[in-house]
Amino acid sequence: MADSNRYKAYSLANFRGIPQMAGVPEAIKFDIEVVGQVLPFKTNNFVVEHLIDWADVPDDPLFVLNFPQRGMLPPHHYDEIAGLIKGGASPATVREAADRIRLQLNPHPAGQISHNIPTLEGEALDGMQHKYRETVLFFPSQGQTCHAYCSFCFRWPQFVGMSELKFASREVDRLVAYLQTHPQVTDVLFTGGDPLIMSARHLADYIEPLLDADLPSLRHIRIGTKALSYWPYKFLSDDDTDDLLALFRKVGERGKHLALMAHFNHPSELEPAPVRDAIDRVRQTGAVIRTQSPLLRHINDDPALWQEMWGRQVLLGCVPYYMFVARDTGAQHYFAVPLVRAWEIFREAYQRVSGLCRTVRGPSMSANPGKVQVLGVSEVRGEKVIEMRFIQGRNPDWVHRPFFARYDEAATWLNELKPAFGEARFFYQDELEQFYRENIEIRHAEDYE
Ligand SMILES: *Cc1c(COP(=O)(O)O)cnc(C)c1O
Ligand code: SF4
Repeated sequence: MADSNRYKAYSLANFRGIPQMAGVPEAIKFDIEVVGQVLPFKTNNFVVEHLIDWADVPDDPLFVLNFPQRGMLPPHHYDEIAGLIKGGASPATVREAADRIRLQLNPHPAGQISHNIPTLEGEALDGMQHKYRETVLFFPSQGQTCHAYCSFCFRWPQFVGMSELKFASREVDRLVAYLQTHPQVTDVLFTGGDPLIMSARHLADYIEPLLDADLPSLRHIRIGTKALSYWPYKFLSDDDTDDLLALFRKVGERGKHLALMAHFNHPSELEPAPVRDAIDRVRQTGAVIRTQSPLLRHINDDPALWQEMWGRQVLLGCVPYYMFVARDTGAQHYFAVPLVRAWEIFREAYQRVSGLCRTVRGPSMSANPGKVQVLGVSEVRGEKVIEMRFIQGRNPDWVHRPFFARYDEAATWLNELKPAFGEARFFYQDELEQFYRENIEIRHAEDYE
């Protein structure tokens, strides 16, 4: 097969035309068609040719990550869509049913939209989030899609065009103005979607004004991306590759630190030569690559695999950063790993790697009050407990204070846990509720945790 570094997208409309799909049983293709009506998917020729092991389909983890699976929808939803398709329903009828199902899949995990939108002179800054003191998230309007959609991704409302659920930003000017008046912010994190779907020119339109604004308090520019793994040609042979790498270099030359927050879910993503070459090219610009991934059932719920992944990352010059707990949205029931099991997997992997890999932190839930790390299971005065702490908190003072929940082997998220020792509330909850009461942006008061 000719290796092609020209981008070709595959989605619901054309996935049956992927040459390797010819060998996949029809029942699996039908499942993709059904679930794909509700949960968007998109992938590309690099993923198809280099990352998926077609001999191992349907179990191959990269196949599961890129193509919707039957188990990602509850059976009654699956049956409804399958019935409509089999009965020859019109596309409009199928779409209507799919939209209705999507709204039931908690598209606003952990208060994302409602609680963190900053304001400037009374005006809401829609394309930004400011939750933790040091870091502002910025959603460039040009970067609200990805080369491939990960099936666990909480950003799927953005991809299906449910427009009122989207974050998007019109301009970088307001970001600069916000940073000028908020000198506590040291980091801007470009996120999306995947900002590196943008052309180098568009990305420069966002980054250069930040550099030109000469903000002494701004130190770190971060870009969250999956491109190293899913489209490494961005850093090797695309039309704008040279401009992109020059832009990366420029960040360093202007005295700022550039960090790529790279997303790798499985060690096999680090094998293809183009991925390794791309990592190398990025590192040569002076940017540092930090790696993160959620822990996902069916994909990477095995300590040996994390051990291998962190080891390969350090070998390639990357810095392991976060292991996340899968979020409470979309197909979470399919990917969820209970918190106690997540801690066991983290611990077993962590025990087996050297200190160079132990820059990683986790398992961490990005929940409403903050990023909460599960420290482990313990017994205190005869009561079995789960110990946790904040890595990031809505109130910075909450960070690194150990707190305890009643042991619960099945819980998959913070809001399923109860405080230990017969206490009524976790130490942060009163303050969190007060924050919500004072925050006029509240639209989802029910997701107090
Ligand atoms: C994770 C996250 C950040 C960055 O946190 P670090 O621990 O500094 O990497 C910033 N804002 C939000 C909303 C986040 O979820
Ligand atoms: S690359 Fe990131 S933003 Fe894009 S689909 Fe995957 S997890 Fe979501």
